Amino acid sequence: MGRILIIAEQFRGQLRSSAGELASAAAQIGGEFDAAVFGPGAADAAQQLGAYGPGRVLAVDCGCEHSGDGFAAAVSDTVASGGYEFVILMQTAFGRDLGARLAARLDAAWINDVIGLEGSGSEIVAKKPLYAGKVISHVKFNTSGLKVLSLRPRNFDAVAAGDGSAAVEQLGSGTECKARCTALEPKEAGYIDLKDADIIVSGGRGIGNAEGYSVIRDFANEVGAAMGASRAIVDAGWIDHSYQVGQTGKVVNPQLYIAAGISGAIQHLAGMQTSKVIVAINNTESAPIFKVADYGIVGDMFEVLPELAKQIKAARQ
Ligand SMILES: Cc1cc2nc3c(=O)[nH]c(=O)nc-3n(C[C@H](O)[C@H](O)[C@H](O)COP(=O)(O)OP(=O)(O)OC[C@H]3O[C@@H](n4cnc5c(N)ncnc54)[C@H](O)[C@@H]3O)c2cc1C
Repeated sequence: MGRILIIAEQFRGQLRSSAGELASAAAQIGGEFDAAVFGPGAADAAQQLGAYGPGRVLAVDCGCEHSGDGFAAAVSDTVASGGYEFVILMQTAFGRDLGARLAARLDAAWINDVIGLEGSGSEIVAKKPLYAGKVISHVKFNTSGLKVLSLRPRNFDAVAAGDGSAAVEQLGSGTECKARCTALEPKEAGYIDLKDADIIVSGGRGIGNAEGYSVIRDFANEVGAAMGASRAIVDAGWIDHSYQVGQTGKVVNPQLYIAAGISGAIQHLAGMQTSKVIVAINNTESAPIFKVADYGIVGDMFEVLPELAKQIKAARQ
């Protein structure tokens, strides 16, 4: 079997914890693996990546914040000539962009949105959800060439980093980036990305109006949660689309998902029903969200959420 390349993600030199999920998938496929990391801070993140035990680590920095075409161009020759059979990355905005570009450049097969793997080696079978999670398809590669897998975040048990290190090779200088991101503006102070969050609190039409979202924001600030939303309040213009969870929003998989004032439409469930623990707060006892909830609270979210935040803070002390 050929080698495996995992493509980890980092921000400003801090490796994202999904590196452990990528290493876990590589371990299941088996064989030797290498690792790569991209963007400003790649050199620092590459040092942390070495602790997962790769043979070699590539730090790819083209001198800009982000460039999909530049990153793909910078690494594709190395992937093509490095004896790789698999490239594994995350099913994130970054991973979807780079995975698709690499697959196209290198004429590779690509299975996306993978939630599990069966077997090992070249014959691996990938499991991916279809029809908003109603069906799990089993997909097998039908090529002896390069294979790309992108993993839905938080579906693989992360391998813990060891204390090893690997030699870091620098790539990317002199790459011509056709489109380059030159700066990033933070969204709002304390913003936690939905993909990285252990706890998510989402609000739906039950918030009543745009100002009502403050009950979600206050709760999130109190307990350190990321904020989400149903499409109803995004469509109403009460909150930005980047907060939307669901079939046409983000797919999340936190330890704890709190749905407040959300009825539980199938399109919303498609984005959150794999969360480890689901708590629903709704003032209507017959709301469908209670069918998927581990814990249901029938009540007014404007009373329940502040009280819940108080209880969580007290329990943490
Ligand atoms: C193609 C397509 C794609 C879609 N994609 C998505 C998607 O990605 N994500 C998504 O969310 N939706 C999506 N939808 C929309 C989806 O079908 C629902 O319309 C939407 O999820 C409803 O949002 P909601 O639960 O906030 O609103 P509602 O269905 O109106 O529910 C509001 C709930 O709040 C409760 N409530 C009211 N006041 C209070 C209070 N004070 N305290 C507690 N509870 C209260 C009510 O009992 C009710 O259950 C999609 C639809 C289509 C057709």
